[in-house]
Amino acid sequence: SISNLNHLFSMSAENNKDGLAFKQDDRTLTYNQTNYHCGNIASYLLGTLKVKKGDRVAAMMSNSIEYACLVFSCIKIGAVLLPLNVNLKKNELQYILSDAQPKVCIVDIDLADNLPRNNDWEILYSRDLLLLKKQKTIKAPDIIIDKEDPAFLIYTSGTTGRPKGALLHHGGVIHSVLNYYHCFQTHASTKTIIAVPLFHVTGLIGQLIHVFFAGGTSIILKRYQTKPFIEKMIKEQADFLFNVPTIYTMLISTMEKEKISSVAHVQTVAFGGAPMQTSLFNKIKAIFPNAYLHNCYGATETCSPATIMPRNFLESKVESVGLPVSQAKLKVINNDGKECEPGETGELLIKGPMIIKKYWNFEEANQKNFIEGFWYSGDYASIDKDGYVYIKDRKKDMINRGGENIYSIEIENVLSRYDEVDEVAVIGIPHSLYGEAVKAYIVPKSDNLNLEDIQEFSSKSLAKYKVPEFIEIVDELPKNPGGKVLKSQLKKGSV
Ligand code: ATP
Repeated sequence: SISNLNHLFSMSAENNKDGLAFKQDDRTLTYNQTNYHCGNIASYLLGTLKVKKGDRVAAMMSNSIEYACLVFSCIKIGAVLLPLNVNLKKNELQYILSDAQPKVCIVDIDLADNLPRNNDWEILYSRDLLLLKKQKTIKAPDIIIDKEDPAFLIYTSGTTGRPKGALLHHGGVIHSVLNYYHCFQTHASTKTIIAVPLFHVTGLIGQLIHVFFAGGTSIILKRYQTKPFIEKMIKEQADFLFNVPTIYTMLISTMEKEKISSVAHVQTVAFGGAPMQTSLFNKIKAIFPNAYLHNCYGATETCSPATIMPRNFLESKVESVGLPVSQAKLKVINNDGKECEPGETGELLIKGPMIIKKYWNFEEANQKNFIEGFWYSGDYASIDKDGYVYIKDRKKDMINRGGENIYSIEIENVLSRYDEVDEVAVIGIPHSLYGEAVKAYIVPKSDNLNLEDIQEFSSKSLAKYKVPEFIEIVDELPKNPGGKVLKSQLKKGSV
């Protein structure tokens, strides 16, 4: 059994010495070289910067080999990495930094201007990380890291209020990594392209740490861009993709346009972080004919997935997010707090070794969100009699029209099947008679979109009260840096 993430790191570094761990443009690091650099960085953090076990080390960095090394260096000394979302504004960063109180901030030079300056933390530039030399005079103290000790402090994006610092512990991350490893059957020749940001759990745990554990190679892109992604995917013969749905929308659209079909090497296509529309799922399936498709449902608080779609799922389950991961217990409760029957919708509660124990410095949220060992996800879901989980909506995105509950995701699924629709987001807007009415924001593929046609199309598969009464055509949808549609902004704009 793996006792902590440093154990996981050392074991894999030892087993895969000459294997290629990371690649970014023309720079590469073997497992041995990674181990060497991480040792140097760790000794610098300990010796020069006096970082102790439990201290926070903030990273304000785009994806890079340096970032990958920093992750494992912090793990080595029991420091808590605080990955900052590089797209946040100064005041948002200020909030997080004063809440988390890091000892050091490691920053990319091109992002440094945006970092709030404060004498409370040291600044180190990321480009220097691999130049650090081992501090011979420093003797590393014996650092004992327990499974319960925190490894990462990741702030949720705050689509539901003020950002909450999720404290991910070593044991939870290990549990997630092993789940991925078993479900995706990753191995030492696995190659992935990390294009989603390393400051979210998908890139950090679902790709970086998971693939490192397997002895595979991570090809690191500074950020997602469609052309370089396609080029690298083909040139490197990447077999494992893991992205948010928005990325697949862009990827598939270009691959279709440019008739790119030489991707038979792709074996695993995973996605999560936001609802996957069935129309996009089918397109992914057609473009990657040899791949197993895995919908993964989770949140920062679940470390990574709480459910994963198994390899050979039944066609009838295509709209589900799969089955609970091992040792996880999921249940759905109604408004009275009673457990729902199979198929009935209510709030999804999750228990398991991967779930965080608490939020950092936020007692009120801790009391509200963690009850009797279950984490209250804020998602509406149902579980069928075979145990498959279906996400219906975020609790706060559900629309109540004259007493009828309407799940925005259901409407989005229908509208996205319409040929001329590129992207769609559905919200409830205030209505004098019904309390709320359904409004759809649509990014069209061309100028040919006819609003009446679309209403007629949706009324074929939706009850009348669910058909959007209001439709607005927009050039793009407001999204957060993780690619999630910001419905709160749409709601603000509509009142
Ligand atoms: P906040 O919690 O502050 O609102 P956030 O929503 O961005 O921020 P994350 O942890 O990034 O927090 O996202 C978790 C949410 O994303 C889940 O609660 C769920 O609503 C949605 N989600 C994640 N994976 C899936 C999936 N596979 N299908 C549908 N929805 C998903």
